[in-house]
Amino acid sequence: MIIPFHVRRMLATLRATLTEDMARRRLSPTPARMPALRGVRSATEQSVRAIWHRLKKDGSASDDDEDIIADPQSVAAAAAYSRNIENFIGTVKVPLGVIGPLRINGIHANGEFFVPLATSEAALVASYGRGADVVSSAGGASAAMVSEGVLRTPGFVFRDLMEAGLFIDWVASNDDALRAAAEATTRHGKLVSIEPVIDNDTVFLLCRYTTGDASGQNMVTIATQAACLYIEANTPIKPRHWFLEANFSGDKKASFLGLLTGRGRKVTASVIIPDELIERRLHTSVERILEYAKIANLGALLSGQLGAQAHYANGLAAFYIATGQDAACVAESATGYTRVDRRDGGVFVSVTLPNILVGSVGGGTSLPSQAASLGILGLRGPGKAAALAEVAAVLCLCGEVSIIGAMAAGQFARAHHKLARQR
Ligand code: NAP
Repeated sequence: MIIPFHVRRMLATLRATLTEDMARRRLSPTPARMPALRGVRSATEQSVRAIWHRLKKDGSASDDDEDIIADPQSVAAAAAYSRNIENFIGTVKVPLGVIGPLRINGIHANGEFFVPLATSEAALVASYGRGADVVSSAGGASAAMVSEGVLRTPGFVFRDLMEAGLFIDWVASNDDALRAAAEATTRHGKLVSIEPVIDNDTVFLLCRYTTGDASGQNMVTIATQAACLYIEANTPIKPRHWFLEANFSGDKKASFLGLLTGRGRKVTASVIIPDELIERRLHTSVERILEYAKIANLGALLSGQLGAQAHYANGLAAFYIATGQDAACVAESATGYTRVDRRDGGVFVSVTLPNILVGSVGGGTSLPSQAASLGILGLRGPGKAAALAEVAAVLCLCGEVSIIGAMAAGQFARAHHKLARQR
């Protein structure tokens, strides 16, 4: 058989339900029947009600939908929410759980933390909670933020290689002026390096910033725009085209660059779990843990994973949503390396995540529930972003410990069946 079975099965299902004519009609461009929504930037109770009226008139929503989503508290805070969203109509209530106390012996996060997690995936909080319990019982996780820097990467297209080379020479002689132009847009952002990458007639400038306690994506965009405008006005080597972001930065996608040089805050964290704890709390043996770690690494290698880890995305997504971070940045944040080794009468487990994008100010951190979640952590406001990044990494460590334990003990399916299906 040349055509795989699942493709044949899908074609058969389509043939049974659709004629070729019907399919053609469905796939053809069709003029919109309904007028577009009028964009609302500054939400008020009236604007919220107006959009609901429209949704209900068109038959897309009911009074019950409105009551749940546009609840009194959400509508009362419409002005605050509309700093973070357009066409505001209320809030979706994502369930929030909490784990802890999680002992963290970090450079910045040092103490015991209750960690809020927002998710609709049953078993996730239980699993991370179990990992947190094991890590804390082992004396806690050490953690260190080892570097930081958010990238924006404008691209410049020239006539030929010669012009591209002259442009890099000009940038190198004018870096102080470029830094001044960028930093004039922000009190906290600092342009720490501009690294040129040349591809014949095209130059990418890898502009890396520290961003204070903000995660910094808006900050670096605005600052880099100012630097690019300075370039446009002052360089004698005029690019044929330039673009503020030439898709090199790894913004919201996993990349080798991010894995190697980091985007956001790079954090490494580890724990040594004594043999006794592995048997008592993870219900498995050291040998099974090490065997599982070996095959999991091989699986990551053979499947071409960027990094090698089990499920950073689970904990990070729940943590980012709970604390007002940009959930889409899980795309780059959930890359890194988990290591498992025999060490000192126990099992050493470490995680290294080079792309943690979190802030304790800015973004969604001042929204009502998100600010309250940061309050539970004790990490709300200025001066807390590095600690927040260390908590995020240790959270991932807890998730790795728990899932490795579940796989080694053969409990993975049973736990999900019990917690997700038998409720
Ligand atoms: P932001 O809320 O846009 O900016 C942070 C603000 O906090 C700045 O006005 C900053 O002032 C101020 N601030 C006060 N105290 C600070 C402190 N101690 N440290 C740092 N800043 C402090 O947030 P952002 O972090 O720049 O951007 C995050 C948002 O960008 C997220 O919501 C994300 O969804 C979005 N995003 C944007 C892009 C993009 O390309 N534009 C891409 C991805 C995501 P100063 O500016 O004066 O320093």
